[in-house]
Amino acid sequence: KFISLEGIEGAGKSTQMAFIADYLRQHQLTVVETREPGGTPLSEEIRAVLLSPREETMADDTELLLMFAARVQHVQQKILPALAAGKWVLSDRFLDATFAYQGGGRGVSAERIQALSEWSLQGVKTDLTLLFDLSVATGQQRVQSRGNARDRFEQQRNAFFEQVRHCYLQRAANEPERIQVIDASQSVPLIQQQLKTCLDKLIRL
Ligand code: C5P
Repeated sequence: KFISLEGIEGAGKSTQMAFIADYLRQHQLTVVETREPGGTPLSEEIRAVLLSPREETMADDTELLLMFAARVQHVQQKILPALAAGKWVLSDRFLDATFAYQGGGRGVSAERIQALSEWSLQGVKTDLTLLFDLSVATGQQRVQSRGNARDRFEQQRNAFFEQVRHCYLQRAANEPERIQVIDASQSVPLIQQQLKTCLDKLIRL
């Protein structure tokens, strides 16, 4: 099975990713933990290009194509082989992030992203996407308290992240079976209870 975790910065994806991996392993499942952009050496190189702040403005379509270049490599080299071997793949972000960030945030049309997705991914999609939803203000507070260096995306204004959040929620409304919204402002035990319910359902399938 293929699971992705999504959400704006500060929603707590990384913490919950570790919990989910542990939970699945307790159920004797083999889990591959990965992330996007990145996940293979070449895709991680593309990630560095995408994230590093630079003088030259990166065109929105350049950003979009680099995201997909990294993704195709990730899917072909890592995700599909793992799934074929019966492993569970847990990815910190996947395709929905492109609709949210490059689509909602940057303003690239969903039709263009969809076309690129069909062209390059040939139907690969997640069985379950966990959307950690949080207000932009709370997310920003959490990110700032982490205090690490800001990447090219974290320098965006709140309006950008409002668009990203809105777009994520819209996708979840359109695909309520695949995308489960988790209220990330809740306590960790409550969130993990909800995660267990989602995961149990998928394990039993
Ligand atoms: O999830 P993570 O924080 O590792 O993502 C790295 C950065 O890349 C974040 O700032 C995220 O907002 C951005 N990103 C993006 N578009 C994607 C995936 C990630 O802008 N499709």
